[in-house]
Amino acid sequence: MGGASLGGMTAMHEQGGLPIPDITHIDQPYWYSEGGDMDADEFGLQRALMLEAEIERLGEENVAAFIAEPVQGAGGVVIPPSTYWPEIQRICDAHDILLIVDEVICGFGRTGNWFGSDTFNISPDIMTIAKGMSSGYMPIGGSLVAEPLAKVISEAGEFSHGYTYSGHPVACAVALENLRLLDEENIIETVKNDTGPYLQEKWHALADHPLVGEARIVGMMAALELSPDKKARAPFAAEKGTVGLRCRSTSIDNGLIMRHVGDVMIISPPLVISKAEIDILVERAARTLDQTLAGLKNDGLMVAGKGD
Ligand SMILES: *Cc1c(COP(=O)(O)O)cnc(C)c1O
Repeated sequence: MGGASLGGMTAMHEQGGLPIPDITHIDQPYWYSEGGDMDADEFGLQRALMLEAEIERLGEENVAAFIAEPVQGAGGVVIPPSTYWPEIQRICDAHDILLIVDEVICGFGRTGNWFGSDTFNISPDIMTIAKGMSSGYMPIGGSLVAEPLAKVISEAGEFSHGYTYSGHPVACAVALENLRLLDEENIIETVKNDTGPYLQEKWHALADHPLVGEARIVGMMAALELSPDKKARAPFAAEKGTVGLRCRSTSIDNGLIMRHVGDVMIISPPLVISKAEIDILVERAARTLDQTLAGLKNDGLMVAGKGD
């Protein structure tokens, strides 16, 4: 209930009478869909300043922490404008508010560095970690707590907390082996300096496609915003997700797993993907866009709407 309350997944909130009290949200730094006429940097700053306004509204003595993902992953690979994180960090520092960074998706190389916090130059007090920690081969997760905070907790006595499978040796052994491979085979450096830039160049080129309003990518997580009117960054008139679902089905038929978040297509390829495999990925994505566009035209769905 705590986790669902911290997140912005309204469907989960509606199911369970969430969010629980004393958790509030600010708006997301999602320039493409919410930035209007502002330039991205101005918008990023404005969204970050919402944190300061919220802290002032609540009274800083009443605010324990701010939590966010460096890049929203399952939310649609929402990469904040470059102004966003420096301002969030400044505000947390100025008001002595703990900064919790959810690295479950961004952690362990996904953004081209060990952590999303490295990519965006964030200094978290707590990080949550899971998925990439074992490359998904075994279920394992955790929270990393910075030394000064850990000291406070340990001085207060034992931190009473646990799960049935906390510290499970099999999961830990797999995670350790995964970390060894990431390190010794220079997988993260390869993503940062070689395969990542290669994919980024090809991915950005997909923005020229008539169905794509924006192509964005960091490291090896990427998104395509589908739009019937790319200049206006307009959503479709059809119910949100209609076009995304069609595109996903076509993509899977083409042998490429693209997930859809509404009408945003997202990918998260394996960090060991080769350049030859990237060529195949991008070729299949382009073919999927062509086929999806043809189908939309055929069914009269290339129509802009107001969105929700
Ligand atoms: C998957 C995911 C979670 C959930 O992690 P659990 O280990 O299942 O609690 C949390 N945050 C993000 C960003 C995720 O992608």
